[in-house]
Amino acid sequence: MTRALINPERCLACEVCEVERVCAFHAVIREARIDKPWIDFLRCSGCLKCKPVCRGQAMSYVVQPCTGGRRMSW
Ligand code: SF4
Ligand code: SF4
Repeated sequence: MTRALINPERCLACEVCEVERVCAFHAVIREARIDKPWIDFLRCSGCLKCKPVCRGQAMSYVVQPCTGGRRMSW
């Protein structure tokens, strides 16, 4: 399964995070408006709708290995 990642070195800490705005799964966590956001893997569906909208082109992703079971492998 795919999970989105935000590269903190590229993230611009935008006042309005477009990644957060488009994420229907509320997977983007930002504790304060000035913080750089991060992705909660337990909420992220891997849809990658956030990738083209990021102003800093900070989005990448990882592919989670499939274990064949119901538990996450990391
Ligand atoms: S839109 Fe991209 S660059 Fe801007 S705060 Fe969100 S993740 Fe960071
Ligand atoms: S990949 Fe989809 S679910 Fe995950 S953070 Fe981006 S928009 Fe949200």
